[in-house]
Amino acid sequence: MSERRPLISGNWKMHHNHFEAIQAVQKLSYVLSANDYDAVDVSLHPPFTDLRSVQTVLESDEIPIALGAQHCHWEEKGAFTGEVSAGMLAKLNVSLVIVGHSERREVFGETDDNVNRKVKAVLANGMTPIMCCGETLDEREAGQARDKVERQVLEGLAGLKGDQVAGLVVAYEPIWAIGTGKTATPEDAQEMCATVRNAVRGSWGTEAADSVRIQYGGSVKPVNAPDLMRQSDIDGALVGGASLDPDEFARIIAYRLVG
Ligand code: PEP
Repeated sequence: MSERRPLISGNWKMHHNHFEAIQAVQKLSYVLSANDYDAVDVSLHPPFTDLRSVQTVLESDEIPIALGAQHCHWEEKGAFTGEVSAGMLAKLNVSLVIVGHSERREVFGETDDNVNRKVKAVLANGMTPIMCCGETLDEREAGQARDKVERQVLEGLAGLKGDQVAGLVVAYEPIWAIGTGKTATPEDAQEMCATVRNAVRGSWGTEAADSVRIQYGGSVKPVNAPDLMRQSDIDGALVGGASLDPDEFARIIAYRLVG
C-alpha cells in the first residue's frame, strides 16, 4: 500500500481581506515549525482577492505552505462575469483548488456535471483538485448517505484515468457538520471515507484507491483532530472556521503531538 502524506487545508471562505490575509499567513508561519512541515502537507485557500498577496508572502519568505483556491470555472476564458478560470489560478502558482464545496453546490446550484468539468479543468492546468462530497442531515437520517457520496464521487470524477484519480484529493464533508460545531464521530467519518475509497477502488482500481488522499471536513478543531486523523482512511482535514485563527489552525496541523 502506498504511503499517503496527510494534507491539512484551510478554507477561509469569504473571510480576510488581503491585509488580514498577509497577517494571518505571517502569524501561521511563525507558529509552525520545520517538524510540522516534515510530517504534514499544508494548504491555504484564501478568497480570490487575496491570492496574489498570499502568493508573494509564501514565496518571498519561502514558507512551505501550498497556495490553494476555493473554486474556479471550467472554461478557459469567455463571457462569464464574475468567474475565474483554472488557467488564471495556475499563473498565480495555485496548486490545489477546492471543487464542489457543499456551499457552492447548495447556495450556487453547482451540479455533479459542473463539478466534473471543473475537476478536469483543474487537472488540465497542472493543479490538484480537492473534490468535496457529503450528505445532508435528512439524507443521513434517511439512510442515503453512502449512496449520495458514492454518486458524487463517481460523477465528479467521471472520465478520469486511474493515475489522475490516484493523485487527487477527495474531501468528505457531511453538510450537517460544516460550520455547526457538530462533528461526525471518528467511526462515522472513517466509515464514510472508506466508502469514498471503495468507490474509487470499484471504478479506478486498487492503485488509485490506495493513493487517493481523503480528507474529512466538518467542524474540525484542535480537540477532535487527533482522533479523526487516527482513522485508517482519513488522510487529512479540510478546515473552515478553525483555519481563520493561526494559533488554532497550527494546533490542528500539530495533531500528532496531542493525545
Ligand atoms: C469547510 O469549510 O469545508 C468546513 C469544513 O468548515 P468548518 O470547519 O467551519 O466546519
